[in-house]
Amino acid sequence: MSTISNGQAAVHIGAIRPAPQRNRLKDTPVAGAKRVLLAAPRGYCAGVDRAVIAVEKALDRFGAPVYVRKQIVHNIHVVTTLEAKGAIFVDDVDEVPEGSHIVFSAHGVAPSVVAGAAARQLDAIDATCPLVTKVHREAMRFDRDDYEILLIGHAGHEEVEGTMGHAPDRTTLVNSPADVANIVVKNPEKLVWLSQTTLSVDETMLTVNLLRERFPTLQDPPSDDICYATQNRQVAIKKVAEQAELVIVVGSANSSNTVRLVDVALENGAKAAYRVDYASEIQQEWLDGIATVGVTSGASVPEVLVQEVLDELLDAGYADVERVTTAEEDLMFSLPKELRKDKEGNDDERGLGGRVRRLDWQG
Ligand code: SF4
Repeated sequence: MSTISNGQAAVHIGAIRPAPQRNRLKDTPVAGAKRVLLAAPRGYCAGVDRAVIAVEKALDRFGAPVYVRKQIVHNIHVVTTLEAKGAIFVDDVDEVPEGSHIVFSAHGVAPSVVAGAAARQLDAIDATCPLVTKVHREAMRFDRDDYEILLIGHAGHEEVEGTMGHAPDRTTLVNSPADVANIVVKNPEKLVWLSQTTLSVDETMLTVNLLRERFPTLQDPPSDDICYATQNRQVAIKKVAEQAELVIVVGSANSSNTVRLVDVALENGAKAAYRVDYASEIQQEWLDGIATVGVTSGASVPEVLVQEVLDELLDAGYADVERVTTAEEDLMFSLPKELRKDKEGNDDERGLGGRVRRLDWQG
């Protein structure tokens, strides 16, 4: 645990962003022309953008400190930047002084957390991604209809905890394909699977196929739970990995969708794939003999961090940057209702589907 400038305890504080270092990497000769394949879409999704803006606007509107339960999104650069502006990240609501403002992160919360905040008379702003809320609603509906739910997701992930909390007595977590053999259900006739929004599509379908072998009457979710942004970024990196010898994925280690991009790149042709928070983590030896480098970023990564990777690769001789586009994204989500007006009560231009797409966000 570290402390921030006002002396209050805060959690989840990471290293301050290292200053970009130029000319650190050497331009060594390789067979063929050096190039970068830059995946698109990459970086910020609509849910992350909304959540980050929610904290920024809460700080504008109510003043610092604004408390945030867990990391607002799983990116250390975003978190440290918001901390510098006065956000305080806490593990749970009982750490927050009564009557304060608290923002719930994009990953969502269980109803018990909402109740805990109310009990402490906190002013809660819910920045849960609407696509996570959709899964919460599915869980509640199947719970109401007496279904057992098999939730495919990663144990301990905040989104999984939040979703399980909406149907705690009927949900069984399926953490990996290896779990399938040991699952016990009461009534296979009323059984449905749901999933975390940020999984590998291919691995999830593998798990579902194994589940269906055991439980042939298993029902599918009403719509895809793995969100559009996760799917789009995986499709784009597959295309890149078919041609790139090395793939660099920008994003934090606790970002599920980022880590999946590394897996997907390796499964689809890349000989090596590495995750970096910052360009300064790229190692010279990764580039030995490499003509084509693929680059992408997770859904919680501001574009400035990708640009710094491209700058360092330029120093290493990768001047030719080719965009590999597999989808266009223009989805926008309205801000939480508490933040749609400014201090004077006027509609905010970013309030109602009015997100400004800021690929160059620098915090
Ligand atoms: S990755 Fe998907 S579910 Fe998660 S915040 Fe982004 S859009 Fe929402």
